[in-house]
Amino acid sequence: MFSKILVANRGEIALRIIRACREMGVRTVAIYSQADADSPHVYLADEAVCIGPAPVGQSYLNIPAIISAAEITDVDAIHPGYGFLSENAHFAEICESCHIKFIGPRPDAIRSMGDKMAAKETVRKVGVPTIPGTTQAVKDKDEALKIAKKIKYPVIIKAAAGGGGRGMRVCHNEVRLVSALMTAQHEAEKAFGNSAVYIEKYLEKSRHIEFQILADSHGNTVHLYERDCSIQRRHQKLLEEAPSPSVDWKLRKKMGDMAVKAAKAVNYTNAGTIEFLLDEDGHFYFIEMNTRVQVEHGITELITGIDIVKEQIRIAAGEKLSIRKQDKVPFRGHAIECRINAEDPANNFAPCPGRIERYNAPGGPGVRLDSHAHAGYTVLPYYDSMIGKLMAFGRNRGEAISVLERSLEEFVIEPIKTTIPIHKEILKSPLFRRGQVYTDFIPRLLGDWPDKNLDEEAKKT
Ligand code: ADP
Repeated sequence: MFSKILVANRGEIALRIIRACREMGVRTVAIYSQADADSPHVYLADEAVCIGPAPVGQSYLNIPAIISAAEITDVDAIHPGYGFLSENAHFAEICESCHIKFIGPRPDAIRSMGDKMAAKETVRKVGVPTIPGTTQAVKDKDEALKIAKKIKYPVIIKAAAGGGGRGMRVCHNEVRLVSALMTAQHEAEKAFGNSAVYIEKYLEKSRHIEFQILADSHGNTVHLYERDCSIQRRHQKLLEEAPSPSVDWKLRKKMGDMAVKAAKAVNYTNAGTIEFLLDEDGHFYFIEMNTRVQVEHGITELITGIDIVKEQIRIAAGEKLSIRKQDKVPFRGHAIECRINAEDPANNFAPCPGRIERYNAPGGPGVRLDSHAHAGYTVLPYYDSMIGKLMAFGRNRGEAISVLERSLEEFVIEPIKTTIPIHKEILKSPLFRRGQVYTDFIPRLLGDWPDKNLDEEAKKT
């Protein structure tokens, strides 16, 4: 086992990793930007190194500064968390060349799954269903029009290097396709330094169902069942639950087997997530693999009792999975997570950074809160707007909803705007209560609000 790990992240995930390390008897090193000098992860770690000014390019994405911090503090391994450098194959390679273990998959697996177009092709070859569309970058508008005509509208333009919903455009007709192609390419170039985009059929009534994978370097691969992440704003998750109300055991087995197959196609090791879209008729299609721990990993931990971050660390240290047989993976109850973001739901979820003056965290039976916030904490404009993740566990879905409702009532974060009110609305919705949710749930819920979802606008063009 490692004796010291550097946590190359901030916010709640840095705390999550530090906590796992502490319970495992592993020392930790936090890194922080000048703007984060007062952040909880800095205090909770055994050591802390400032790696640069606030902008991410000079701090949390600054590879030379992070490697120097790792060398000065003499760590054995780096845990990248999610976001930042977690899916950067080049960073994983540099770690390897400096004899520092990267807690994640091998660089070649990150690379194979990092290009979403190539990933689709890789898994398609081993028999995993994928959405109809292009397997090469779209060259120009004529090619785009030809493809869309073949697969029929609506279509979606996606960035090959995509993530966080950026570079993605839904197109219902030719006019929209031509204008969206240029903006998507431009956005992809700006966000990822790679303008390659591809086109696939847009599945209007679909659910986002993803499978948590764990794989060790001894050839053991299991899945920890699914999460339903259909409740999204701007194609980004807002509320997740495990298990999915729309997946029965027959479908779970089928999708789980496919998820394991997809991971094995790249000899995957460590924790990862296979994402699928599930249509109304029960057909499912691979959309991408995330080669890191997910934001929403906690709800899977609640229903399986498996600590995914500890498993990641053990796998990277060369140990075997604690549970190696698929039918031995525990499954109990129901868990739901609300992402508590500093955002204004009434203003198209625009980020609302600022200082938290009053803060009261919920607690009690069935509640798990992963957050770095407190009274006096300032949500900074430089980083993502997540304040924390409120999770509720119950013996069944109804119980989990009740725990979540009462804990949202207890949760006070003022005066900044947060997603707490919209979560209360979601939980009240009869469609949500019945588990009849598709990825268009939020735009529909907000249908009467002044700012309609971008895709709703797109339909009119
Ligand atoms: P990112 O990597 O940017 O998060 P994903 O490929 O994971 O992008 O897709 C994010 C979300 O966008 C999905 O959960 C889904 O809601 C929507 N989406 C992506 N592709 C399609 C598609 N072909 N049809 C319908 N919705 C899609």
